[in-house]
Amino acid sequence: YFVSFEGPDGAGKSTVLKKVLAEIEPLLKTQYLVTREPGGSKIAESIRQIILDPKNVKMDDRTEALLYAAARSQHMAEIINPALKEGKLVISDRFIDSSLAYQGVGRNLGIDEVKEINDFATGGIMPDLTIFLDVKPEIGLARIEKLRAGQEDRLEQEKLAFHKKVYAGYQEVNKRYADRIAVVDASQSLDDVVTSCVAIIKKRLPD
Ligand code: C5P
Repeated sequence: YFVSFEGPDGAGKSTVLKKVLAEIEPLLKTQYLVTREPGGSKIAESIRQIILDPKNVKMDDRTEALLYAAARSQHMAEIINPALKEGKLVISDRFIDSSLAYQGVGRNLGIDEVKEINDFATGGIMPDLTIFLDVKPEIGLARIEKLRAGQEDRLEQEKLAFHKKVYAGYQEVNKRYADRIAVVDASQSLDDVVTSCVAIIKKRLPD
C-alpha cells in the first residue's frame, strides 16, 4: 500500500509525517518504509542536489521537470517498487502530484505533459492514498520566512506569485484525483492535523 503526503511549502509535511508515523506504527501489521522526494535513493538524492542548488539559476523549466522525473524513476525502481512488491507500506513525503502542481502549473508546463513524462518514469504506479496538507500560500510562506504583511520585497512577491500558482495547481490535481486524495486543513493546530491524518489512514489502510 502506497501513501504519499503532499502540500505547498510550509504546510508542515515533514513534522506531521513524523508524528503520524509515531501514532500508526504500533497499529501496523506489515513492515513499512518512509521515504521522500525529490530524493529517496543515493542517485535520486544526487539529482535533488542539482535541482535545488541555488547556483543553478539558469536551469530550464523542462530540464527541471525531467530531472524531477528522473529522480522519481530511480526512486521508484530502487526503493518504492521493491518495497511494495514485498508487501510493505510505503509512505513518501511528496510524489508525482508535486510535479503536477510545481512544474505542471507553477512552471506552466501543463499537468498532462508533466503527467506523461512521470508515467514514463514510474511505469504508471500511483499512490493508493494521498494526503494533501492544505495551507494557503500566504500562510505557508509566512511560516517559512516569517514574512510580515506589507514588508515583502519584490523577490518575495515573485515567490508568493509562484506559490499561488502552485497552490492553484494542487487544487486542480485534487479535483482530478479526488478518489485518491484526502484534503486535510493544515492551518489547524499540529495535533489536530495529525489526528485527522491518522483517522484517514486508519480508515483507508487495507487489513
Ligand atoms: O518538500 P521539500 O521541502 O523537501 O521540497 C524541497 C523543495 O523542492 C521545496 O522548496 C519545493 O518547493 C521544491 N519542489 C519543487 N517541485 C517539486 C517538488 C519540490 O519545486 N516537484
